[in-house]
Amino acid sequence: MNASVPIDLVNALTVDVEDYFQVSAFEPHIDREHWESLPCRVERNVDTLLELLAERRAHATFFTLGWIAQRYPGLVRRIVAQGHELASHGYGHRRASDLDHAAFNDDIRRAKGLLEDIGGRAVIGYRAPSFSIGKRNLWAFDCIAAAGYRYSSSIYPVQHDHYGMPDAPRFPYRVCAGLTEIPVTTARLFGRNLPAGGGGYFRLAPYHLSRWAITRVNRVDLRPAIFYFHPWEIDPEQPRVRGLGLKTRFRHYLNLHRTQPRLKRLLSDFQWDRVDRVFEIDL
Ligand SMILES: [Zn+2]
Repeated sequence: MNASVPIDLVNALTVDVEDYFQVSAFEPHIDREHWESLPCRVERNVDTLLELLAERRAHATFFTLGWIAQRYPGLVRRIVAQGHELASHGYGHRRASDLDHAAFNDDIRRAKGLLEDIGGRAVIGYRAPSFSIGKRNLWAFDCIAAAGYRYSSSIYPVQHDHYGMPDAPRFPYRVCAGLTEIPVTTARLFGRNLPAGGGGYFRLAPYHLSRWAITRVNRVDLRPAIFYFHPWEIDPEQPRVRGLGLKTRFRHYLNLHRTQPRLKRLLSDFQWDRVDRVFEIDL
């Protein structure tokens, strides 16, 4: 790491805990009623991640689906026991933008209740599936606050075909009483926001771009980054879903074998911790 990066700047690492068949891009191809019958990979993948983090003595925030927590309570307890932050990714991975008030409320409250019962800790963080909060459903923030969450990380201020709110603030801001939005990290270059917060970009583009972008945010903006990825992204052996379009296939399956070695580099190139500690959010 370049010596001019402030060594005390700690970034926030986040994992969206869902299985390969729950990703939004597969929605047209996999009926959610079939989820039960598909081979699950999430538990072994999260356990691998827990080992990687333990090796590096790093901590992270796990935005976990209620659906997963119900089926893998032991996994949820291991996440908590190893000192990570348990947070909510909603119950059934329904995009906030597809739900009305009542359905959204049910989803985020059901997930919070389940996670708190199983994990035995207050859950104060929420991330909407596929960053599905934007201009058209900003009302969602009032629901999130009223449900008792203290922060959300549901906006990605980039241009993307499935999500994104490019003109949203790049750094944490108060969205309504009691709730802070912590947008996924972007790097600002030539008047544009470039994705710097992980996900597909981390896997599809060369590693050094992610490293450059995080370094830039730390050094130029003097801010911590918030970075995310999914357990299925370290799993090249996952069952292949048939009938996908070329773009979805490319986005989901490319470089799966590269993610784990990249994560190891990321863990040694930067310091990482849980969202609630990096951004100093508490009850
Ligand atoms: Zn998700």
